[in-house]
Amino acid sequence: RQNAEKFEFQAEVSRLMDIIINSLYSNKDIFLRELISNASDALDKLRLLALKDSALLGEGEEAALEIRIRVDKEKRVLQIRDRGIGMTKKDLVNNLGTIAKSGTAAFLEQMQKGGDVNLIGQFGVGFYSVYLVADYVEVITKHNDDKQYIWESDAGGNYAISEDTEGERIGRGTVINIHLKEDEAHYAEEAKLKELVAKYSEFINFPIYLYASKEVSNEVPVEDEEGEDEATETEEADSDESEEESENDEEEKPKTKTVKETVWDWEVLNDNKAIWLRDPKDVSEQEYNKFYEALAKTTGEKPLAYSHFKAEGDVEFKSVLFIPSKAPFGFLDNYYTNKPSMKLYVRRVFITDEFDELMPRYLSFLRGLVDSDTLPLSVSRETLQQHSSLKTIKKKMVRKALDMLRKLAEGDKPEESDEDAEGEEAAPADTSKYETFWTEFGKVIKLGIIEDKPNAQRLAKLVRFHTSHSPDKLTSFDEYISRMKEGQKQIYYIAGESKEALAKSPFLEQLLKKGYEVIYFTDSIDEYMMQNLPEYDDKKFQNASKEDLKLGDKDKKQKKQEKELKERFKELTERFKELTVWWKDVLGSEVEKVKVSHRLASSPCVVVTGAQGWSANMERIMRAQAL
Ligand code: ADP
Ligand code: MG
Repeated sequence: RQNAEKFEFQAEVSRLMDIIINSLYSNKDIFLRELISNASDALDKLRLLALKDSALLGEGEEAALEIRIRVDKEKRVLQIRDRGIGMTKKDLVNNLGTIAKSGTAAFLEQMQKGGDVNLIGQFGVGFYSVYLVADYVEVITKHNDDKQYIWESDAGGNYAISEDTEGERIGRGTVINIHLKEDEAHYAEEAKLKELVAKYSEFINFPIYLYASKEVSNEVPVEDEEGEDEATETEEADSDESEEESENDEEEKPKTKTVKETVWDWEVLNDNKAIWLRDPKDVSEQEYNKFYEALAKTTGEKPLAYSHFKAEGDVEFKSVLFIPSKAPFGFLDNYYTNKPSMKLYVRRVFITDEFDELMPRYLSFLRGLVDSDTLPLSVSRETLQQHSSLKTIKKKMVRKALDMLRKLAEGDKPEESDEDAEGEEAAPADTSKYETFWTEFGKVIKLGIIEDKPNAQRLAKLVRFHTSHSPDKLTSFDEYISRMKEGQKQIYYIAGESKEALAKSPFLEQLLKKGYEVIYFTDSIDEYMMQNLPEYDDKKFQNASKEDLKLGDKDKKQKKQEKELKERFKELTERFKELTVWWKDVLGSEVEKVKVSHRLASSPCVVVTGAQGWSANMERIMRAQAL
């Protein structure tokens, strides 16, 4: 084009595109999901703005919020058109080219590790997946604030933008012309497109049309006698005389024939009724699973559980929540900067998925949405914070989320609705799903105990670990308590690098000999967690590596014996304490006191930490973090 302005892709974007266009990845279908999802996002954005200014919608045809797909089989072009917000020239540069998004590098890294292209949408670079099937793409776009532009690229490191002065006026929105690679021509087949939309885009909340052909059968009169006959027929039909004429009719019938004709028309491919508005009873598990895939922009990954509920009362909303079976890439590494993943709608209108006050950070791995009837439609991302009903929503959401986790932990079937489960046979508890959950997300539950004090007890119920009694199978505080010895008042634990090392710890000699169960905490976060969890179910926790370890109540005889021993070794313990120089050489630090103790069974002595100070394990972790 004459007026084209050339731009270079940002280096990482260029590399990404290069990888995609040469990809041998077999599941190329996902490009359609990504483009339709962008079209839907663009429509959401427009609808939100139009709440304040309905003039933005335009009039007539233009105001219809929809997505239209059509193909030109001969030219091998697939076209996707939306009447969404469109892009200004600046948007084109920012969004489709020159500026790298944070996800670009992360996605490249993931791909190098042999990651799945399927996840591209989760990295915010879904648009480029079009180059899985295309060798040349045109994006024609019109934003209300700017002129109509064409962006085009063959993925060769650069792209061009030109003002579109000659093409069809698109009014508002975006048209993407996908010039399919030679061996991807099947994406211009109607049947293929129908299949893909059904598979990936069923839950898009705008109608998706396909310009599709249909065979229709028409009865047409046989040519030769035509002219006259038809004329007579009409006359006869007008007259009232009957019998003779009807005989005539019968004789004439064989003179018509059936002709098959192909007609083209727009066909709606999706039933765009929002799943969360439906009665949970009418939604199948398969539909929830597919909805999850749509939310998570993934395929083939089933959620571990879901919850579909309605909150009533002062604050009304509907919600669907999912527990993913896999943590998103880098989820824990980026814990403090992760984006929220909950979508907020107000009366069916999508408002934002970037509001981080809908769920606490530690639950941000959950996928789902909230559709509120209480918030005003005039709400904006900026003013959300001021609505007190959001606090209530958050509280109820957390409660529901923890409920769902509890049920999963107990091995219940995923919740279908609030009123379900009547008359259903109780299946034996299956905790395998929870174990998957624990492997993927256990750490966030521990973070929750630290960050969400009011729910700490509920979260503690969800914690799993190994113990001296259960070294190979995960167990819980409740199970530990059910095994507590008579007279045992505390829950004993010890933290360290591995359960094998802990099992041999001299700290545990007496405890184990006396048959007390000890929890082995081996995750670096565990001791932080325990500092925030002084007790569970009215039982106090006791760190076995600390000075104040008590092994049940001592009787009078024991107390007397202890006193005698203390006296007997008084001189020795004093002398030990004076040996600071020697201690320092050996341990690198001073000892605070030296005591005679009952806690050992075979080792002659042990170094413990004061009741108030950091444990040795904690110091080890902090030293490691300081590096
Ligand atoms: P994401 O959708 O996660 O932001 P994409 O790579 O899919 O990432 O799209 C990049 C950006 O390009 C979008 O955020 C949006 O701003 C813009 N965009 C893509 N497709 C459209 C469209 N059909 N209409 C308007 N803007 C679009
Ligand atoms: Mg996208």
